[in-house]
Amino acid sequence: IAGDRYLLAAGLVALAANFVLPMSFRYSAFAAAANTALILLFAVDSGELGFIELGAFFAFLILTTLVATYRTELGEKRSFLLGLRDSLRVAELSDANARLAELTRTDQLTDLANRRGFDETYARLLAEAQQANDWIGLLMIDIDRFKQFNDALGHEEGDVCLCTVAGALKEALRESDAFVARYGGEEFAVVLPGAGPVEARRTAESLRKVIEDLKLGHPAPPHRFVTISIGVAAARMDPSMASEAGPPLLNMADRALYDAKRKGRNRTAFATPAAA
Ligand code: GH3
Ligand code: MG
Ligand code: MG
Repeated sequence: IAGDRYLLAAGLVALAANFVLPMSFRYSAFAAAANTALILLFAVDSGELGFIELGAFFAFLILTTLVATYRTELGEKRSFLLGLRDSLRVAELSDANARLAELTRTDQLTDLANRRGFDETYARLLAEAQQANDWIGLLMIDIDRFKQFNDALGHEEGDVCLCTVAGALKEALRESDAFVARYGGEEFAVVLPGAGPVEARRTAESLRKVIEDLKLGHPAPPHRFVTISIGVAAARMDPSMASEAGPPLLNMADRALYDAKRKGRNRTAFATPAAA
């Protein structure tokens, strides 16, 4: 009877340990083998048929828990790997998304920001200027007599010219915190954070000169070279302004550009905030 109890207790302890202890499969296999061997040894050693049956029963139960441990571990490994695969996919996908988002904001011909990119960045820079109570300058740039350039030299030459002008603008503004975009056809926009009227005009004049100095041949008289006209606007933003304080600046620069064209092209014109 004492042996019976002992066997029962040993078997239960082994079972409970197998269930409760968070052992890896390798350790529980070792423990289960040792337990099973001990129980069977004891049972066989006792020589009584009842003990042998009981020992075999516990051995069976212990091995069953072993199978359960094995399956649990396999499942954990599987779900770990699946999770890993999922997070890799998510990372890949968000990478691709970021690249796609970048593409939708970039002009394919000039590699500058396109209109969409401009709208977003301009809105952000306006809001930042507003928060900081700071000036913001805006230049609207338009290539002079570009239709004639196209008509005389062809659309492909026109494209090359657009790229050259875009590259020169970008290069000229590289050191500054200016943001330059292709606003449309042969029009570019430059945002100058922190720039008041004086600085905005100075930047515009230097850009006009940069393009003039490229001395890109222009077929139509009276201009021998490709030139640009620039409308300049600047405004001091403050937090009390309505968020639609942006468009007036665009309109101001646009009207100033029209002025520059009217006055003969290859020049800059400034729109005073008071005129808005
Ligand atoms: P202005 O001095 O008054 O600006 O005269 P303009 O001829 O430049 O003005 P207009 O707006 O009449 O013509 C703009 C031309 O720009 C017409 C269009 O064919 C050309 N253009 C617009 N986008 C592109 C482009 O992506 N590639 C080429 N090659 N030409 C373009
Ligand atoms: Mg135009
Ligand atoms: Mg033009």
